[in-house]
Amino acid sequence: MKATGKRKIAYVLQSTSILPLLLLGIIILLLGTQIFKKAMYHEVEADLGNVCRNLVTFFDTLYPGDYRLEEEAGGGCRLYKGSHDLTADFDLIDQIKENTGLDITLFFQDTRILTTVMDNEGKRIVGTGAAPNVMEDVFAAGKAKFYTQVFVFNTDYFAYYIPLVNSSGNVTGMFFVGKPTADVDDSIQSAIYPLIIADVIFMILVSFIIFLYTRSFTSSLLQIHRFLREVSAGNLNASLSSEALDRRDELGEIAHSVVNMQHSLHSLIEQDSLTALANRRCGDQRLKQVVHNASANGKDFCIAIGDIDDFKKVNDTYGHDCGDLVLKQVAEILRRHMCGKGFAARWGGEEFLLVFENLDLESARNLLNEVLDDIRSMKCRYDDLCVTVTMTFGLTQGNTDNVTELLRTADERLYKGKNSGKNQVV
Ligand code: GH3
Ligand code: MG
Ligand code: MG
Repeated sequence: MKATGKRKIAYVLQSTSILPLLLLGIIILLLGTQIFKKAMYHEVEADLGNVCRNLVTFFDTLYPGDYRLEEEAGGGCRLYKGSHDLTADFDLIDQIKENTGLDITLFFQDTRILTTVMDNEGKRIVGTGAAPNVMEDVFAAGKAKFYTQVFVFNTDYFAYYIPLVNSSGNVTGMFFVGKPTADVDDSIQSAIYPLIIADVIFMILVSFIIFLYTRSFTSSLLQIHRFLREVSAGNLNASLSSEALDRRDELGEIAHSVVNMQHSLHSLIEQDSLTALANRRCGDQRLKQVVHNASANGKDFCIAIGDIDDFKKVNDTYGHDCGDLVLKQVAEILRRHMCGKGFAARWGGEEFLLVFENLDLESARNLLNEVLDDIRSMKCRYDDLCVTVTMTFGLTQGNTDNVTELLRTADERLYKGKNSGKNQVV
């Protein structure tokens, strides 16, 4: 159930961030490819159109006059441009092909007269005819046209056709300039591949970062959950991992808040609100722990119960608030002396439990006499008054692991002290 919760959050976080990212990456890739292809096609169209128009102008300038076909005596035909015999004059178009990689054809009517396109045996495909749709679009309509796919002999071309118009305004033939589709595709691919690779690397990188972040996020969340579970089960000493506490985001703040909540609970449950000493419940638990440890390790320990002498009089004479102040100051002296030696707890109204860990009876008595000296010389200032008190302590060595018996002995000695003049350690 709990593990599923973790997986659920990780799954939701990842599916709402990584999946859209991947989807966006793919869409950008596809759209980008299409846009790039279109741009390339336009560029090819412009290039082929330029070459085609320049060719027409070049031929017109070089060989002024119309294109005309003259029959030979032997039965063959020769193509003239003005007075120049163009038949088999391949030098110019071959030179252009060599420089640009473009194929060129000069049609008279629908027939190839000059061409750079070869068949499988390396022979020019002169004498072959133009495609019917080209004849219709260019020759018949008298308009230049760009095709993204024209099949010539055994090759697909991007092709630009221009009609050739003679001086009387009739179309007599066409110029074709073509770039093999494979060449265009190659240049598209070589331009697009780096883009695809960059896009994929970017997607993988961002996905990985998101994955790492969600993993650390859910792991911290799980630790906070585990910590809360322990605290709610009553373990106020549970500790929260530094991984969650060290975070610098809102989750880190939540982690600090739940730890503060644990401390507040700890104080509420285990601390006396007036003196900030351990309360009776906590003192009792800690005493049991000390008794347990001492009997396990064979170490000495002592306990004492102290009671402020004639405290009722303080309250009655100076008021309850003054009594509270006295309790606080006495508690402060006890805390100071017990620091590193054991602990003090508020056992009842003006009664305190002192537990001396790893201390024999003699050392405990000496320490307790120092405490009593400090209390005797303590001056509690309240309004313009200076209140002093004394205390009586019943001390006993921890020579049994029976906590009730120990407390009873300390109590009996305390009352012995109360009945024999107070202000002493018994
Ligand atoms: P003894 O020397 O025999 O101990 O005399 P005592 O007057 O100190 O003992 P007693 O038990 O008669 O009175 C204790 C008083 O302590 C009664 C009670 O009102 C007072 N007291 C208990 N808790 C508090 C407290 O939190 N604040 C204040 N101001 N007084 C308290
Ligand atoms: Mg008292
Ligand atoms: Mg008392």
